[in-house]
Amino acid sequence: MNIISINPATNSIIGETNISSPEDIHQKVGEAHSVQESWASLGVKGRKNVLMDVLRLFKEHLEEIGVLSTQSMGMPSSLRNNLDLDAGIEYFEWHLENALESLKPEISFEDSTSLNTVFYEPTGVAAVISPWNFPFCTFVWQVIPNLVAGNTVVFKHAQECVLVGKLIESVFSSSKIPQGVFSEIYGGGEVGDILIHEDIDLISFTGSTTVGKHIASVGAEKLIKVLLELGGSGPGIVFEDADMDKVAEAVFFNRYANSGQICDGLKRLIVHKNIAEKVEQTLVKMLQSKKVGDPQDISIDIGPLSSIKQTDALKEQVDDAISKGAQILIGGKKPAGLSEAFFEPTLLSNVTTDMKVWQEEVFGPVLPMVTFESEEEAINLANDTVYGLGGYLFTEDKEKAEVVASKLKTGMISVNGTLYLHPSSPFGGYKKSGLGREHGKNGFHELCQLKVVATEK
Ligand code: NAP
Repeated sequence: MNIISINPATNSIIGETNISSPEDIHQKVGEAHSVQESWASLGVKGRKNVLMDVLRLFKEHLEEIGVLSTQSMGMPSSLRNNLDLDAGIEYFEWHLENALESLKPEISFEDSTSLNTVFYEPTGVAAVISPWNFPFCTFVWQVIPNLVAGNTVVFKHAQECVLVGKLIESVFSSSKIPQGVFSEIYGGGEVGDILIHEDIDLISFTGSTTVGKHIASVGAEKLIKVLLELGGSGPGIVFEDADMDKVAEAVFFNRYANSGQICDGLKRLIVHKNIAEKVEQTLVKMLQSKKVGDPQDISIDIGPLSSIKQTDALKEQVDDAISKGAQILIGGKKPAGLSEAFFEPTLLSNVTTDMKVWQEEVFGPVLPMVTFESEEEAINLANDTVYGLGGYLFTEDKEKAEVVASKLKTGMISVNGTLYLHPSSPFGGYKKSGLGREHGKNGFHELCQLKVVATEK
């Protein structure tokens, strides 16, 4: 049986790949076990040397990976270098450069006679499962820290990205990495499900909250560590004193870039009543200046969603909002003359909290907007969600930003569009947006077993 890869921009087939059999998956997990101790015994420096060679090869194949990613899931070529490829390389390099410092033993207790030292040891075989929205970067985020930390990895990319997955595997195959340290399996959720039921020591999962809950339950049954990076419905609060240029730029980047398919994106806009009209006009004007179309065309700002299935789900959420009284300020439908996977960048006003666009994660270029009068009301609206990944504030009042940031139940907060995405900063969420954090020292430690050794002085 094969998986067929479809280009969402043209609705045409771009290739196909064999689905991994249960025997194949079992064999790869077995190989990952048999080589794990020798991989760990190389130490951080030894592993880094091997992975430097892998990094060099990825840099050589980067353009090829980018083109295939755009064909597979529709990210515009105008964005992919910045958002996926360069970002992936930056995180790859950071994890190699900072592993030694992040994983070095630490003294946790000391007195006149004794010393306690904490060692960060590898956990074992990691099952790593990724979504499709950043085909290269997400692979780097999840796989590279595991490998540097001394875990071996069996990786499953999303079925939308199997061809990118094949390319990733061929880059590893041409490197000096020992056989079995990194391997890949191919297929949909059922293949991922077989993997997590195998004899593994850790699951690193990025994807939806629904599947994340299932993964957590399998991990609980096995009593193994599970890291979950899940969905989000990031609030963006725009206070009366906000700088409109900063609002427009950050809203485009965090809501409409990658056709709104960003987990920690700004998905609900909460605007002070007195400036609602000004914000609406600013955003409509900004969106009118953006071009929707063929993602391989460098002048295009917004491509298709990753599949027709995603666009249909988005349309259903928009239809629900319209039926309950929302008003379309711009967009609102599939554009004429393009494949069924496209959806116009959309801004909705008159939104109420009973609408699906408010209650559910909206994974597409649609932004619902509500208004507030008091700071307390804005905070309550922002926290009115089961998610807690990204959060966005727009105000020139630093003190206000600090107070409001402390009251938002999200793992990351951006003030006036400032980036929180840095490899040294922890990434992850509160509530149903996940468990654990990726990146930085914290991210490394999540992948390790901690061992305390008590010695005499
Ligand atoms: P998804 O449906 O949960 O799929 C994610 C991955 O899990 C895919 O590889 C999928 O396989 C696999 N999978 C599905 N069912 C499985 C099962 N029963 N056992 C094991 N694996 C299974 O999510 P998606 O639609 O691809 O991605 C979008 C979601 O990911 C959004 O909610 C987004 O917010 C979230 N996300 C979160 C982050 C973060 O860092 N917090 C980052 C990116 C995306 P197939 O797709 O091949 O069937």
